[in-house]
Amino acid sequence: KGDVLHQKRPRRVIGGPKNLVMTHGCSGSVLKAEEIHQNDPRQRLVILGSGWGAVSVINQLDPKKFHVTVVSPTNYFLFTPLLPSATVGTLELRSLIEPIRRLLSRLGGYYVEGRADDVDFENQLVEVSGIHDSEGRKFYVPYDKLVIAVGSESMTHGVEGLEHCNFLKSITDARDIRKRVMENFEKASLPTTTDEERRQLLSFVVCGGGPTGVEFAAELYDFLNEDLVGYFPAIPPEEVQVNIIQSAGHILNTYDLKISEMTESKFKRENINVITNSRVVKVNPTSVVYKDKETGKEAEVPFGVCLWSTGVGMTPLVKSLVAKLPHGSQSNKHAIETDGYMRVIGTPEGTVYAIGDCATIPQPHFVDRVMTLLQESDTNNDNVLSYDEFRTLADRIIAKHSVLKVFLSHLDETFNKYDKDHNGTLDLDEIRAFLIDAEKQCTALPATAQVANQQGIFVGKRINILHSIENDPMAVSQLPQFAYKHLGSLAYIGGNEAVLDMGKGLVYGGIGSEYLWRSVYFSEQVSVRTRLLLLMDWSKRALFGRDISKF
Ligand code: FAD
Repeated sequence: KGDVLHQKRPRRVIGGPKNLVMTHGCSGSVLKAEEIHQNDPRQRLVILGSGWGAVSVINQLDPKKFHVTVVSPTNYFLFTPLLPSATVGTLELRSLIEPIRRLLSRLGGYYVEGRADDVDFENQLVEVSGIHDSEGRKFYVPYDKLVIAVGSESMTHGVEGLEHCNFLKSITDARDIRKRVMENFEKASLPTTTDEERRQLLSFVVCGGGPTGVEFAAELYDFLNEDLVGYFPAIPPEEVQVNIIQSAGHILNTYDLKISEMTESKFKRENINVITNSRVVKVNPTSVVYKDKETGKEAEVPFGVCLWSTGVGMTPLVKSLVAKLPHGSQSNKHAIETDGYMRVIGTPEGTVYAIGDCATIPQPHFVDRVMTLLQESDTNNDNVLSYDEFRTLADRIIAKHSVLKVFLSHLDETFNKYDKDHNGTLDLDEIRAFLIDAEKQCTALPATAQVANQQGIFVGKRINILHSIENDPMAVSQLPQFAYKHLGSLAYIGGNEAVLDMGKGLVYGGIGSEYLWRSVYFSEQVSVRTRLLLLMDWSKRALFGRDISKF
């Protein structure tokens, strides 16, 4: 594969001014594409991916300036924040997607249904294999500028038996869960099903207490309350059990502590079993084995459906790209490192950008910069921080590094964690340990649609401007770096309630919160069509309940 890519004349090249031109043949193909392109004054911009980051770039681009090609295995944009609602039929799957070709039509852009397998940074070519090409033939897409926005994969943490779990990253995953949930309810209703089998079929286990796991549990709870009693009279509601296994001390642990506690007490009232401080050690075909982190004791919980949602890691493409970039340019184990302009470190300057879940911006000299804040916070200059001084330091750090908001959200817990000798103050060694961990967190923005969207907008605007000022180094050097602005975090927690964390202790839940949650996502839709579909789904559910057919 590598040999083919690095031949001077790759076999198939795709590109061209008016249409996608695929040139066949062993020699001269790059040259031919280049010659054709000379008729088109626009730069060739290739975007890998059709998710949040990619679509945000597309929406910013000036059609007069760029000849845009999107390469992605999925020919649609997926609105992931509402994916948990599709797992039990609250929303229809088609209401969450928008064809990428439709989004590209404004630019007169092109879509290639393929998977990028490699990038030749030197010759500016992306190696692509077509999704439906059973012979595995590859072709090459040349670029002047490349945006890598290929997202992430579910993190496995090396746990055995994940083939028995469901994941929730794609539309297929949501469809599989929905089918399995309905299948289990139908099986559990059969007269031949034993009591033990029924209990196992009706036990739902969620591994991971982040927003996705919590929202799935909340949707299940709504389904049980609103539809189960009416449509499955043979199933006693108390036999249905929802369990969440979370390795941290709280669920939604990246939100304000008040939100975690609010959700936990709501789940307790609803008999959703929240198991905290526990790590999953193994997944069997019908049970999950987990270990209590404090006592070391192992326990087992049976399941009919087990959702694995414990964070994200690099896709195979991202792993291979990071490995081939010049030695020393990349050191992060979770994503491609970029500079403050989202340009991939180690690639020819200004040609390759990475955004969204697959990218991270290192924050050099973080500890040095924080030392001044530390001195200012240590009001009595005793080189020791009391809890109040630590709180002041945390506020100052967040003001400068908003990325760390999530890391510093549960301040009491954080303080206790670093106060190793439990004397109510942090000495220099303890502060150092805290700063080192904070620096690590600082390099990683949360893997959220909000980040991908802001980075996409930033890159789209930047390359639009660069197009006009590229020959003016002074003007280029004055362009701003990317600065993330956290706009708040939302999560649906069931029973017509959502939670909203606005930062600085500002939290909201309770009456009307579901409507707030809905209106935020309604306004963020990428098309009028999906807005209309959402409205129809929400009305349909209010009038007739969920569609519980299994197909
Ligand atoms: P994605 O949106 O995942 O897009 C990646 C794209 O790359 C896809 O089109 C994929 O097909 C394509 N691709 C993959 N491999 C290749 C390849 N080799 N070549 C070409 N293309 C490729 N975030 C929030 O802010 N709020 C939420 O409420 C929220 N809820 C979520 C709920 C769920 C169930 C999930 C799964 C995620 C949620 N997120 C949420 C996170 C958010 O979806 C991601 O952070 C966001 O999608 C990242 O955007 P991205 O562009 O980096 O990647």
